[in-house]
Amino acid sequence: MNSEIIVKAVDVTKRFGDFLALDKVNFEVRRGEVGCIIGPSGSGKSTLLRCLNLLERMDGGGIWVNDELIGYRRDGDKLYEISDADVARQRRRIGMVFQRFNLFPHMTALENIIEGPVHVLGEPPEKARAEAKRLLERVGLSDKQDHYPSALSGGQQQRVAIARAMGMRPDMILFDEPTSALDPELVSEVLDVMRDLATSGMTMIVVTHEMGFARNVADTVTFMEAGKVVETGPAAEVLGAPKNARTAEFIKAVQ
Ligand code: ADP
Ligand code: MG
Repeated sequence: MNSEIIVKAVDVTKRFGDFLALDKVNFEVRRGEVGCIIGPSGSGKSTLLRCLNLLERMDGGGIWVNDELIGYRRDGDKLYEISDADVARQRRRIGMVFQRFNLFPHMTALENIIEGPVHVLGEPPEKARAEAKRLLERVGLSDKQDHYPSALSGGQQQRVAIARAMGMRPDMILFDEPTSALDPELVSEVLDVMRDLATSGMTMIVVTHEMGFARNVADTVTFMEAGKVVETGPAAEVLGAPKNARTAEFIKAVQ
């Protein structure tokens, strides 16, 4: 197993007004691993992902991605916020798949995937198109390339969203409850695509209530509650023999 740490969050703190949404969160993921984050609603899971992706500015602590401090620039002992262009550059390396399929509604499946590579990465349209077709094939949707999102099921939209994230050739992909808005019969087709992605070596951070996925695919599991990391460790240990009583209670409740 490759042991290089690709994401390292140290004492990450985030407030919304007086409310402490993240309270000195420490978290790390190694390259090629799948880290699942579990925990009750409101525990700060989405906020942590949003901090990792610079969609949210943290109030304290630091996050390193590939040994680069994100969101800040260090000069001696001083930290400076970086420019919007640098934020965009850092964010580009991190794909994100949300709970609600956030495809562009006025673009076909293929166009959704091509958009970023052409307009953000500056790839030639023909190259991007060929790659997008390959990605659609990989998520089992070759026959849907010219469909608009409104003509796709939730599960198909989510698979396009995953293909779109992959099209940007990110260092890792963050998933925020990617199956929780789906009808139950559509969950497995999305989890299958995610499992395939994990097998191919993509680094993934997955917020999910799908304990079967966490058990079978995750390398590590992190349990959060009330803005804190309560327990984190190898998936088999955290899920199979949790050390913390709250972790055990939660896992039992969501089975
Ligand atoms: P989770 O994803 O674990 O359900 P979130 O990270 O979405 O939790 O939210 C953690 C807490 O922070 C919740 O109590 C939520 O209401 C609060 N929160 C999240 N985003 C904001 C915001 N933009 N403004 C104020 N409070 C927020
Ligand atoms: Mg959430």
